[in-house]
Formats: sequence, C-alpha cells, structure tokens
Amino acid sequence: MKRRHLLAAAAALATGATTVSVLGGKPDTKTTQTINTPGSPNISKNRRQLRLVTSWPKDFPGLGIMANRLADFVGTMTEGRIEIKVYAAGELVGATEVFDAVSTGAADMYHSAEYYWQGKAKGFSFFTAVPMGMTATEIAGWVNFGGGQALWDKLSGRFNIKPFQAGNTGHQMGGWFKKEINSLEDFKGLKMRMPGMGGEVVRRLGGAAVRLSGGEIYQALQSGAIDATEWVGPWNDYAFGFYREAPYYYGPGFHESGAALCLGVNLDVWNSLSPHDQVIFEAACRTANDLSVGEYTHENGKALEILKTEHNIVPRTFPDEVLDKIGRTSEAVVAEIGNSNAETQTIYDSYLKARDSYRRWTEISDGAYIAARAAALK
Ligand code: CA
Repeated sequence: MKRRHLLAAAAALATGATTVSVLGGKPDTKTTQTINTPGSPNISKNRRQLRLVTSWPKDFPGLGIMANRLADFVGTMTEGRIEIKVYAAGELVGATEVFDAVSTGAADMYHSAEYYWQGKAKGFSFFTAVPMGMTATEIAGWVNFGGGQALWDKLSGRFNIKPFQAGNTGHQMGGWFKKEINSLEDFKGLKMRMPGMGGEVVRRLGGAAVRLSGGEIYQALQSGAIDATEWVGPWNDYAFGFYREAPYYYGPGFHESGAALCLGVNLDVWNSLSPHDQVIFEAACRTANDLSVGEYTHENGKALEILKTEHNIVPRTFPDEVLDKIGRTSEAVVAEIGNSNAETQTIYDSYLKARDSYRRWTEISDGAYIAARAAALK
C-alpha cells in the first residue's frame, strides 16, 4: 500500500472516517475458501480460511496488531482448522468499506470502530465512544452485563453482522494546542481538528471543528490551517510529532474516554461455526480487548516519559471552567443524537442508565483512589 494510503487509513480511529478515501478495489470473493457447509457434521475435520478486513494500516501499532493477535489466537486455538487472513485497509477494501463488505458477504469479518457507521444508524456511536461517555472498563460492563450486547446484536443484525467488543484504546487525550487554554474565551475562533460529536461540542464552544485524516494533521498544524488537534494518546500522538507544532498538551479526552473496537462477523459465517468455534472467537475477542487495554496503558506511559524528558512536554488538564462547559455541552449533543429516533433512543437510554449507575461506583473507587494517590505521591 502506498504511504498516502497508509496515512489515510491511519485517520481511521479519530476521524469518524467519512473523509477517508476509498482505498482499494472490489474484493475477489473467489479467494475465500469456505470449505465447510454450514452445519456440516464434519466441520471439525475441515480446514477453513476466513478473511478479516480492517480499517487499519498493516501492522499499525495498537489497532492493526490487535487484529493480527485475534487472528493468531483463533488459528492456534483451532490448531489451524480456521485460518484468518488479515487484510490492511486498502488491500481488499478501503478503511470505511469494511462494514459493507462483511454485510454483503464479500468478506467474512471486519475489525474497526463502530462509530464509523453512524451514517447507517446513529446508534453505532454508542458502541465505540460518545462525549462524556463510559471508560474502557465501564463499556465492558455495559456490553457484557448491562444489556449492551443484546442491543448491539439487534442493531448489527439488521445488517447481517454479529458484533463483538475486540479492543479498546483506553482513555484518549484532549489534544495538542498552539496556545495555552486558560478560559472558555480561548475556544472562540479556535480551529481544531476534532471529529464527530466531539467536533459539534467544539463548535458550540465557539470554535471551528475541522475534519482531517491522520496524515493531513501535521501539515495543517504547520501551515496554520488549524490551531489544535486531537488524535489518540501519547503513544500514537508522539509518532506523528504534533508536539513540535502545538506544544500544549491537554487532557482529558472528553470525547473518547475509552474507544472500543469491534470484530464484526458476517452472520451467515457466524451461524455456520460450531458452538466450540464460536466460543473460541469470543475468547479471541476478549483477549484482544484485555491485551489492548494493557498495551495502551504501557505504551502511553512510556511515550509520556519520552515527551517529558526529551521534549519538555508536560501534559495539562483543561481548566475547570472549560471542563464544566464541555461536560454540559457534551450531554446536550449526545442527547440530541440519542433521542433522534426510536432505535437510537433505546440504545441511548440503556447506555445512559449504565453509565450513571457505574459512575457512582467508579468515581468513589478508581476516581477517588487515583486523585488520592496523585496527591500523596506528588
Ligand atoms: Ca481520537
């Protein structure tokens, strides 16, 4: 894949992805070697090759590796009976074409972020991240135990897809700014690269939300086309070098507090798997989820240390006044989307109920502990 394509695909996680160009040609369905007949009693004796299309550049740190691990896990656990071949964005289909490819059966499964499909159904956003939404542990609670999976199955089922949580970036950062943010006034006229519902929040604070793919951000900062940008977190941000152009690094990422990734399996393919193999797929997704949370924590810590010691970048927290306004504006923006139709409202109501139940616990546990530890170890 050409570098231009790599960068466009790298836009994926943070763009909301409608700007990502179509990267590849039509899939060649002949290369799928689906040897088993669904329900065949000899299924365990047959070898099967499945195609996993992703929204990530090949072996992309974090996201691309997550899909590779998932495929390796299934291969090992089935002792090679099921071989999953992973395709980077653009190899079979473009970064944002993976959903349609799996929906129609042109590919067997995708690894991507559900908020890219908000144009198909607004409810999809809630299964990745919404402003002032759940953290990585909270969304795992909702999907696995709080009714989220059943709602998700129903939503994706409309498109002939069975979805699973299969990765999480953990908490993202608020972004890189050329100037200090001291008050709400500093958002007035601010041109910030910020996708989706987060972009709407920036607009309501008086700024201008700009949509750019990952590969376009650095140059836009350099030319002055934008004054600020969000991307992911220290690990992925450092790789792009934003600190050189916009040295004020603010958190928290109010817009993506734990972006969940998804494995979407074509429903016919899913139903053709034996119960044994279905459990292996589910375990592979849980493993990907677990490892990615650990990996992002580990790598973000390392990158922050490098930013601090080698580049004198010390992250800051948005002022209280700004966070307060961002919080209230986020709630209003998400409510408008959440209440936009009956299907989305059912998902939104369940999401909100879970978030507000879990936060009563996480605020007095994780929240209080982290604040206390920070104060004690200053
Ligand atoms: Ca992001």
